[in-house]
Amino acid sequence: MKYRCVECGYGTNSLFVQYSPGNIRLMKCENCKAVADEYIECEIMIIVIDLIVNKPKAYRHLLYNVLGSQTLNFKGLLWKLSFGFLLLDAYRSLLICRSKEEWSSTSIASFIWTCQKVLMDVVIGNLMFFATFLLAMRIFLSTSIGSLRYKDIFLAILVSSYFKMCLFAMMVWEFPSSVVFIIDLYVLSSNIVALKVITESAMSRCVLTCFSAHLMKFLVTQALELRTL
Ligand SMILES: [Zn+2]
Repeated sequence: MKYRCVECGYGTNSLFVQYSPGNIRLMKCENCKAVADEYIECEIMIIVIDLIVNKPKAYRHLLYNVLGSQTLNFKGLLWKLSFGFLLLDAYRSLLICRSKEEWSSTSIASFIWTCQKVLMDVVIGNLMFFATFLLAMRIFLSTSIGSLRYKDIFLAILVSSYFKMCLFAMMVWEFPSSVVFIIDLYVLSSNIVALKVITESAMSRCVLTCFSAHLMKFLVTQALELRTL
Protein backbone atom coordinates (compact mmCIF):
# COMPACT_ATOMS: atom_id res chain seq x y z
CA MET A 1 0.00 0.00 0.00
CA LYS A 2 1.34 3.37 -1.05
CA TYR A 3 -0.48 5.67 1.38
CA ARG A 4 -2.07 5.58 4.83
CA CYS A 5 -5.36 6.74 6.32
CA VAL A 6 -4.51 9.62 8.66
CA GLU A 7 -7.20 8.60 11.16
CA CYS A 8 -6.32 4.93 11.72
CA GLY A 9 -3.09 4.31 9.77
CA TYR A 10 -4.69 1.66 7.50
CA GLY A 11 -3.03 1.32 4.09
CA THR A 12 -4.68 2.58 0.92
CA ASN A 13 -3.63 2.73 -2.73
CA SER A 14 -5.01 6.18 -3.48
CA LEU A 15 -6.10 9.19 -1.48
CA PHE A 16 -8.27 10.92 -4.09
CA VAL A 17 -9.72 10.59 -7.56
CA GLN A 18 -9.26 13.49 -9.95
CA TYR A 19 -12.12 14.02 -12.42
CA SER A 20 -10.74 17.23 -13.92
CA PRO A 21 -8.14 19.84 -12.83
CA GLY A 22 -9.27 21.19 -9.44
CA ASN A 23 -12.15 18.71 -9.23
CA ILE A 24 -11.23 15.86 -6.92
CA ARG A 25 -13.04 13.42 -4.66
CA LEU A 26 -11.32 12.30 -1.47
CA MET A 27 -11.26 8.54 -0.93
CA LYS A 28 -12.64 6.92 2.22
CA CYS A 29 -10.68 4.49 4.36
CA GLU A 30 -11.80 0.86 4.04
CA ASN A 31 -11.10 0.28 7.71
CA CYS A 32 -12.56 3.26 9.61
CA LYS A 33 -14.79 4.63 6.81
CA ALA A 34 -13.51 8.18 7.47
CA VAL A 35 -11.96 10.34 4.73
CA ALA A 36 -8.50 8.81 4.29
CA ASP A 37 -6.57 12.10 4.20
CA GLU A 38 -8.55 15.27 4.78
CA TYR A 39 -5.35 17.35 4.78
CA ILE A 40 -5.17 17.13 0.98
CA GLU A 41 -7.77 19.88 0.77
CA CYS A 42 -6.49 21.85 3.79
CA GLU A 43 -4.45 25.01 3.82
CA ILE A 44 -0.82 24.47 4.75
CA MET A 45 -1.32 26.57 7.92
CA ILE A 46 -3.88 24.05 9.25
CA ILE A 47 -1.29 21.27 8.81
CA VAL A 48 1.38 23.40 10.51
CA ILE A 49 -0.93 24.14 13.47
CA ASP A 50 -1.87 20.45 13.82
CA LEU A 51 1.84 19.55 13.77
CA ILE A 52 2.54 22.15 16.46
CA VAL A 53 -0.16 20.67 18.71
CA ASN A 54 1.35 17.22 18.01
CA LYS A 55 -1.69 15.62 16.35
CA PRO A 56 -0.79 12.08 15.24
CA LYS A 57 -2.93 12.40 12.09
CA ALA A 58 -0.91 15.43 10.93
CA TYR A 59 2.27 13.35 11.33
CA ARG A 60 0.64 10.46 9.42
CA HIS A 61 -0.16 12.84 6.56
CA LEU A 62 3.38 14.23 6.49
CA LEU A 63 5.36 11.03 7.04
CA TYR A 64 3.30 8.59 4.95
CA ASN A 65 1.42 10.61 2.35
CA VAL A 66 3.83 13.48 1.63
CA LEU A 67 7.38 12.44 2.52
CA GLY A 68 7.10 8.64 2.57
CA SER A 69 9.73 6.38 1.03
CA GLN A 70 7.75 6.48 -2.24
CA THR A 71 8.89 10.12 -2.56
CA LEU A 72 11.23 10.74 -5.45
CA ASN A 73 14.79 11.23 -4.30
CA PHE A 74 14.15 9.96 -0.75
CA LYS A 75 17.90 9.74 -0.11
CA GLY A 76 18.44 13.36 -1.15
CA LEU A 77 15.66 14.42 1.21
CA LEU A 78 17.28 12.51 4.09
CA TRP A 79 20.64 14.17 3.43
CA LYS A 80 19.11 17.65 3.34
CA LEU A 81 17.13 17.05 6.54
CA SER A 82 20.21 15.61 8.30
CA PHE A 83 22.25 18.65 7.30
CA GLY A 84 19.54 21.01 8.60
CA PHE A 85 19.25 18.97 11.82
CA LEU A 86 23.02 19.16 12.50
CA LEU A 87 23.14 22.85 11.62
CA LEU A 88 20.35 23.66 14.08
CA ASP A 89 22.10 21.56 16.70
CA ALA A 90 25.33 23.47 16.15
CA TYR A 91 23.46 26.73 16.58
CA ARG A 92 21.84 25.40 19.78
CA SER A 93 25.24 24.50 21.19
CA LEU A 94 26.59 27.93 20.22
CA LEU A 95 23.72 29.63 22.06
CA ILE A 96 24.50 27.66 25.23
CA CYS A 97 28.23 28.51 24.94
CA ARG A 98 27.39 32.17 24.40
CA SER A 99 25.15 32.31 27.47
CA LYS A 100 27.91 30.90 29.66
CA GLU A 101 30.81 32.98 28.43
CA GLU A 102 31.98 36.47 28.16
CA TRP A 103 31.74 37.25 24.50
CA SER A 104 33.64 40.44 25.05
CA SER A 105 36.81 38.39 24.61
CA THR A 106 37.04 38.05 20.87
CA SER A 107 40.48 36.51 20.78
CA ILE A 108 41.30 33.85 18.19
CA ALA A 109 41.92 31.35 21.00
CA SER A 110 38.39 31.84 22.36
CA PHE A 111 36.93 31.53 18.84
CA ILE A 112 38.79 28.25 18.24
CA TRP A 113 37.73 26.97 21.66
CA THR A 114 34.06 27.72 20.91
CA CYS A 115 34.23 26.03 17.47
CA GLN A 116 35.84 22.97 19.04
CA LYS A 117 33.18 22.82 21.74
CA VAL A 118 30.31 23.17 19.24
CA LEU A 119 31.78 20.51 16.94
CA MET A 120 32.26 18.06 19.82
CA ASP A 121 28.73 18.69 21.08
CA VAL A 122 27.21 18.12 17.65
CA VAL A 123 29.28 15.09 16.59
CA ILE A 124 29.57 13.18 19.87
CA GLY A 125 26.15 14.31 21.17
CA ASN A 126 24.34 13.11 18.03
CA LEU A 127 26.35 9.92 17.69
CA MET A 128 25.35 8.99 21.22
CA PHE A 129 21.78 10.16 20.58
CA PHE A 130 21.26 7.90 17.55
CA ALA A 131 23.23 4.99 19.06
CA THR A 132 21.05 5.11 22.20
CA PHE A 133 17.95 5.53 20.06
CA LEU A 134 18.73 2.39 18.03
CA LEU A 135 19.55 0.42 21.18
CA ALA A 136 16.40 1.62 22.97
CA MET A 137 14.34 0.72 19.89
CA ARG A 138 15.72 -2.81 19.96
CA ILE A 139 14.92 -3.13 23.67
CA PHE A 140 11.52 -1.41 23.85
CA LEU A 141 10.13 -1.72 20.31
CA SER A 142 11.69 -4.94 19.00
CA THR A 143 8.39 -6.73 18.63
CA SER A 144 6.55 -3.94 16.88
CA ILE A 145 9.10 -2.71 14.35
CA GLY A 146 8.78 -5.77 12.15
CA SER A 147 9.56 -4.97 8.53
CA LEU A 148 9.66 -1.24 9.11
CA ARG A 149 12.64 0.37 7.46
CA TYR A 150 15.05 2.20 9.72
CA LYS A 151 15.24 4.97 7.09
CA ASP A 152 11.57 5.78 7.74
CA ILE A 153 12.18 6.00 11.50
CA PHE A 154 15.22 8.21 10.88
CA LEU A 155 13.08 10.46 8.67
CA ALA A 156 10.40 10.66 11.38
CA ILE A 157 12.96 11.80 13.98
CA LEU A 158 14.49 14.41 11.68
CA VAL A 159 11.14 15.82 10.58
CA SER A 160 9.68 15.91 14.08
CA SER A 161 12.68 17.93 15.30
CA TYR A 162 11.52 20.88 13.15
CA PHE A 163 10.72 22.93 16.27
CA LYS A 164 14.44 23.55 16.72
CA MET A 165 13.97 26.21 14.04
CA CYS A 166 12.53 28.38 16.83
CA LEU A 167 16.12 28.77 18.01
CA PHE A 168 16.55 31.27 15.19
CA ALA A 169 14.08 33.54 16.99
CA MET A 170 16.79 33.89 19.63
CA MET A 171 18.92 35.68 17.03
CA VAL A 172 16.37 38.46 16.91
CA TRP A 173 15.00 38.54 20.44
CA GLU A 174 16.84 38.08 23.71
CA PHE A 175 15.64 34.99 25.56
CA PRO A 176 17.07 33.34 28.67
CA SER A 177 19.13 30.25 27.80
CA SER A 178 16.54 28.08 29.58
CA VAL A 179 14.35 28.55 26.48
CA VAL A 180 16.77 26.20 24.67
CA PHE A 181 15.86 23.43 27.13
CA ILE A 182 12.12 24.17 26.77
CA ILE A 183 12.56 23.75 22.98
CA ASP A 184 14.42 20.46 23.68
CA LEU A 185 11.45 19.22 25.73
CA TYR A 186 9.04 20.14 22.96
CA VAL A 187 11.23 18.34 20.38
CA LEU A 188 11.20 15.28 22.68
CA SER A 189 7.38 15.31 22.71
CA SER A 190 7.18 15.63 18.89
CA ASN A 191 9.73 12.82 18.47
CA ILE A 192 7.52 10.59 20.65
CA VAL A 193 4.39 11.30 18.56
CA ALA A 194 6.29 10.75 15.26
CA LEU A 195 7.80 7.49 16.53
CA LYS A 196 4.37 6.29 17.67
CA VAL A 197 2.89 7.11 14.26
CA ILE A 198 5.65 5.39 12.29
CA THR A 199 6.00 2.25 14.47
CA GLU A 200 2.39 2.04 15.70
CA SER A 201 3.74 0.96 19.08
CA ALA A 202 2.38 1.66 22.54
CA MET A 203 2.89 5.25 23.70
CA SER A 204 4.81 4.19 26.84
CA ARG A 205 7.38 2.30 24.73
CA CYS A 206 7.86 5.31 22.42
CA VAL A 207 8.27 7.59 25.46
CA LEU A 208 10.94 5.29 26.92
CA THR A 209 12.82 5.07 23.60
CA CYS A 210 12.88 8.81 22.89
CA PHE A 211 13.50 9.77 26.52
CA SER A 212 16.54 7.46 26.77
CA ALA A 213 18.07 8.95 23.60
CA HIS A 214 17.47 12.55 24.67
CA LEU A 215 18.72 11.86 28.20
CA MET A 216 21.90 10.28 26.85
CA LYS A 217 22.55 13.27 24.59
CA PHE A 218 21.99 15.67 27.49
CA LEU A 219 24.34 13.73 29.80
CA VAL A 220 27.04 13.47 27.10
CA THR A 221 26.97 17.21 26.34
CA GLN A 222 27.05 18.01 30.08
CA ALA A 223 30.03 15.65 30.53
CA LEU A 224 31.83 17.31 27.59
CA GLU A 225 31.22 20.69 29.20
CA LEU A 226 32.71 19.59 32.52
CA ARG A 227 35.74 18.18 30.67
CA THR A 228 36.41 21.43 28.85
CA LEU A 229 35.99 23.67 31.90
ZN1 LIG B 1 -8.92 4.73 8.51
